Amino acid sequence: MQRSDILKGYPDGSLALDGTLTRAQALVMLTRAFGGFAVPVGDNARMALPASSLTNVPAWAAEELSPVLAAGLADGDENEAMSAEALSTLLRRAYAAKGTNLKDDYYAAVNKSWLDGSDIPAGLSINGPFYGLSLTVNEQIAALIREIDAHEQTPGTAEAKIKALYDCVMDAEGRERAGVAPIQKYLDAIENAKTLDELVSVDAQMQKELGLSMLLGFGLTTDLADSSRRIAAFSLIGAGMDKDFYVNGADAQRSAYTTYLTSLLTLSGLGADEAAQRVAAFYDAEAAISAASLDPQDYSNVDKTYNLFTLGELKTLLPNVDLDAVLAASGIENAERIMVSDVGALKAAAALYDDAHLALLKTAARLALLQSVATSLNQGFMDAYFDFVLAYYGVDARQSNEQIAAQQVQALLADYLSRAYVDEYFSAKAKADVEEMIGEFIAIYKERILAQDWMSAETKAKAVKKLDTMGVKVGYPDSWESCLDRAEIKSPAEGGSFFSNVIAIQMAMKQDVLAHQNDAPDKSEWIMTPFTVNACYNPSANDITFPAAILQSPLYDVNASREENLGGIGYIIAHEITHAFDNNGAKFDENGSAADWWTAEDYAAFRQKCQAVAEWYDGQEAYPGIACSGALTISENVADLGAAKCIVAAAKKLDHPDLDKLFRAVANTWASTTSRQMREYLAVTDVHAPDKLRCNRVLQTLPEFYTTYGIQPGDGMWTAPETRVSVW
Ligand SMILES: [Zn+2]
Repeated sequence: MQRSDILKGYPDGSLALDGTLTRAQALVMLTRAFGGFAVPVGDNARMALPASSLTNVPAWAAEELSPVLAAGLADGDENEAMSAEALSTLLRRAYAAKGTNLKDDYYAAVNKSWLDGSDIPAGLSINGPFYGLSLTVNEQIAALIREIDAHEQTPGTAEAKIKALYDCVMDAEGRERAGVAPIQKYLDAIENAKTLDELVSVDAQMQKELGLSMLLGFGLTTDLADSSRRIAAFSLIGAGMDKDFYVNGADAQRSAYTTYLTSLLTLSGLGADEAAQRVAAFYDAEAAISAASLDPQDYSNVDKTYNLFTLGELKTLLPNVDLDAVLAASGIENAERIMVSDVGALKAAAALYDDAHLALLKTAARLALLQSVATSLNQGFMDAYFDFVLAYYGVDARQSNEQIAAQQVQALLADYLSRAYVDEYFSAKAKADVEEMIGEFIAIYKERILAQDWMSAETKAKAVKKLDTMGVKVGYPDSWESCLDRAEIKSPAEGGSFFSNVIAIQMAMKQDVLAHQNDAPDKSEWIMTPFTVNACYNPSANDITFPAAILQSPLYDVNASREENLGGIGYIIAHEITHAFDNNGAKFDENGSAADWWTAEDYAAFRQKCQAVAEWYDGQEAYPGIACSGALTISENVADLGAAKCIVAAAKKLDHPDLDKLFRAVANTWASTTSRQMREYLAVTDVHAPDKLRCNRVLQTLPEFYTTYGIQPGDGMWTAPETRVSVW
């Protein structure tokens, strides 16, 4: 702050610097120091705090504060004391609002013109170079579908099935005519059940005929403790929304959700009063189950999710349910050991499975059935769903029915459309180039692991083994074999409907799983489709996957410089490799089985480093008033920090590396914008840090970042070297 008129003092001429600084005083100083604030546009406008967030504004400051309030930077109560921490938070908000100096807020400055001009296109809840790519991919696939639909197709081929399904989805008239008729017999059976036993029988019938169970059921999954076999998994009804929603959800969001559930019930034939009453009771039950459930950061924590039960133990929890019959209906042959992923939620739900809660369970079954098939019924159900999504996430516009139809076909016939997409849009050169980059990164990782001073030679050898055996999947799977080949998809002319085809696909998938239940899990199978704009590490297979759709501009470009590709796709590749050694991945061995391969001392040191990462992020504000939770985002942050070290190491192998280019590419990769509501939602549910911190907070750990830009104490991006964290 260098402007001389910042501190004007009290009318008597004193400055009262030993007194307490109030919010209004601090904000006035800030406004003068920054030469005022413009009315925010683009992302800053979306993230602005409402002016009413600052309460008890004194009359003397009202006029001078109006721009800073309009800029959405201020919150809190004027009558509360202002801490040094709160002052530095205000300063950071001001740096972000200005976005003029990359030494103060790197992400905001590098992305300023994009952020200021950003919008959110219909059909996206978040926009950015990264997210916009998925919209492009969807448009490309929609064009492929329309092209297939425009021609006659040979019966029985993948193209004929795509055409038949698309025609059914687009058959609005047929869908309106049918209404809820396709599921009427199940709705009636649910309502007519007189006992819990009868209701459970109806559930088993739906499992057999629709391939879906609404109230309880057994499934099959890879055994986390032994990735060479499958294990039965058991679940009951659970909460429909995230855990934080039931505790802290805003009224508007709660209302969006209950309105949606009520609409489902009325659209399926219940009266408005009855629907509202049933939703209220159902909501309370969901909230109670949610309160007993795992926290979102524990979903990938094998210590919390791998819980073994015998059928006898489950029977003790559910004394009123004929579990033998439920198991028989599932088609699963071996249930000697049964995995339960959320014991707290299961126990809370189990308490509801008796005749006294029959009415509640009927509502749960009815809503589950409607939610699983709603968008394949008529327009009323579609509208109810999209009204909910738009209101809940605070986004403005949905896509056209035609775009939505294409995406539904894309999701249902993913195997076929993946192949069509890859044939049309993916190059062999991109695959070879990215495979080479991955090989180089794995070699860098080995060097880095061997150089760690806190790890013993014994643990290092095992970590290197995990890298040596890591599977690499790039572009598309080796085999296009698909269980869709066994699904009979009928066009409207053949008597098919959207609903009947959804069920045919669902049943084909279920039969495929059951047919392979005694085989070892197939590790060559892809858990992401090639048209997904994302990437992953699968701890149960110890492999990394980079679908074709993510290997394109702006994240990867054969014509871009090496540094730009390192800051784009390079960051993402190295991030996925690091997941093998984040706080969750570290618990799996080279075969993908949960196992303790660390010495006790090394593991303790590792945990300590992970804890420091949690603290590095905890409380950091990416947007005014929305703090990052260090505990929620720890695993992704460990992966981001490892990724940054790796790409810088890769760049340093070049002659005269241009690190400025690399760091800018990182900032561009994570540029994004969304509604404030969505940011608030992500802050309590997303295990990734907000995109802005995936740039700024990560770069702040790299000495090369400070030297590239000459960042010094006093700059907004500065942190003292001894406070910077690192795991890998
Ligand atoms: Zn990740």
